[in-house]
Amino acid sequence: MSAVVQSAAATDVEENLTDGFNLIIDALKLNGLNTIYGVPGIPITDFGRMAQAAGIRVLSFRHEQNAGYAASIAGFLTKKPGVCLTVSAPGFLNGLTALAHATTNCFPMILISGSSEREIVDLQQGDYEEMDQLAIAKPLCKAAFRVLHAADIGIGLARAIRAAVSGRPGGVYLDLPAKLFGQVMNADAGKKSLVKVIDAAPAQIPSPDSIKRALDVLKSAKKPLIILGKGAAYAQADDALRAFVEKTGAPFLPMSMAKGILPDTHPQCAGAARSTVLKDSDVVMLIGARLNWLLSHGKGKTWGDAPKKFIQIDIEPKEMDSNVEIVAPVVGDIGSCVSALLNGMDAKWPAAPADWVGAVKTKRDDNVAKMAPKLMNNNVPMDYHGALGVLRTIVKERPDAILVNEGANTLDLARGIIDMYQPRKRIDVGTWGIMGIGMGYAIAAAIETGKPVLCVEGDSAFGFSGMEVETICRYKLPVCIVIFNNDGIYRGTDVNASGSGDPAPTVFVKGARYDKMMEAFGGVGVNATSPDELKRAVNAAMDSGKPTLINAVLDPAAGSESGRIGNLNPQSKLKKK
Ligand code: ADP
Ligand code: MG
Repeated sequence: MSAVVQSAAATDVEENLTDGFNLIIDALKLNGLNTIYGVPGIPITDFGRMAQAAGIRVLSFRHEQNAGYAASIAGFLTKKPGVCLTVSAPGFLNGLTALAHATTNCFPMILISGSSEREIVDLQQGDYEEMDQLAIAKPLCKAAFRVLHAADIGIGLARAIRAAVSGRPGGVYLDLPAKLFGQVMNADAGKKSLVKVIDAAPAQIPSPDSIKRALDVLKSAKKPLIILGKGAAYAQADDALRAFVEKTGAPFLPMSMAKGILPDTHPQCAGAARSTVLKDSDVVMLIGARLNWLLSHGKGKTWGDAPKKFIQIDIEPKEMDSNVEIVAPVVGDIGSCVSALLNGMDAKWPAAPADWVGAVKTKRDDNVAKMAPKLMNNNVPMDYHGALGVLRTIVKERPDAILVNEGANTLDLARGIIDMYQPRKRIDVGTWGIMGIGMGYAIAAAIETGKPVLCVEGDSAFGFSGMEVETICRYKLPVCIVIFNNDGIYRGTDVNASGSGDPAPTVFVKGARYDKMMEAFGGVGVNATSPDELKRAVNAAMDSGKPTLINAVLDPAAGSESGRIGNLNPQSKLKKK
């Protein structure tokens, strides 16, 4: 799509020219990067217009952080780097949280920011939005590049793509100074300079020794456990993973975003017997899951006293032994590793011991039975279980919908209560437990998958990205947002101990009507005060595909401080009352 421009060359010979704008667009399209999430402004406003005219889907957000989260989850869902586009300094910084989030979560993403003139920035002469963006981005991503010459745009983007998706995926920063966009060069030379990246994420085949070692340890297990993490969901090796897990017969535990690779209702699923399997297992096989804080670092009370052996499958060799000794490290991509494991298991592979499998199943069935009546309660005002019981049924009836989930209690309880049936349908706060991913994730999920999206949001969590309801309405996306409104952070009942008249730091306006926000932009707003009303409103939204926001009125006293991670929240014993 190079523009034909009359050259002003002294020779007066007509030459086909292209420029930075066109070359970046051509390079993106050549590599199948057909969607941009961003916020327009200097120096990338015209770029956005031109990209849209050239057939790239350009989604304009209200804040770069939300566009960045959208790009990060687009990367997770598609295995292609999600692209976020921002202006210089402040826009770049707003996008940076999402870039760091992508890197931390192993999602491939490219943050492209316009920047100011190098000559002025480096002499610190006070340019418009002056900032040494490349230096600032570097420690927060896998790789950072700057392109100074139009002829290097092809190589620059190729390097960014490879860095984002190969090995352990992550965030990449690409710095494009304002001057680059208008740089003109010969169109043929420009075209030749572009690179179509071949085999961007090459298969990483595990060594046969590592496979044998892992199978030997697994075979020796009396109480095996398989833990599936979001790396396993990302790998899109769903059939092989399922075949492998079923062949072992072992209980499996899905991490939050790995729910649904095998259905949560699968007979081997130990989700509802989590504490038992972590404590009592003797061999633990981690597949695309890190032994970080979310798994209590593989030690301590959660894991019990019985000695354990860990097998770990991961694409990143340095992940091994990060928290505990890994007796059987298997380094490679999950698809290749799981296929190799399956190949190494003969027809006589012993199923996991029946007493262990039976004990886990009993524990699980007990816990499920204990929970069941709570989920059917019709209390008004609603509590978490009553509201989540409704949503659980809706997800069961609509298993291909994407569930976005953030909050404290809203997150912890929904994760446990809402069963998932298909891979990559649950996307949430991830490794950092970050708040604010909600609307960005919802938008990208709708755009990338074309499926309906159900967002289950704490009222506080929603506030971080709430303005993007306008974006959802503008693009007419099939997103239904349910806000668990308990008037505050953790609870809406906290009081100010000083009596000054200010509200306590954790409470919001009582009886707030978030549904009115959606109505302001032409979407559907519903105030739901009972489980029945909630059910009707969500089903109507999912049927119509219209942007909908349901203000689910919860008991302000429902919820506990910091949800399930109160142990991480230091509390003063000397507090003045
Ligand atoms: P969870 O939070 O669900 O436990 P983590 O984010 O902690 O998951 O772990 C994901 C792991 O998956 C990371 O260590 C990452 O290196 C690994 N990973 C990501 N993609 C792949 C892949 N295609 N093959 C193998 N490992 C992968
Ligand atoms: Mg709340």
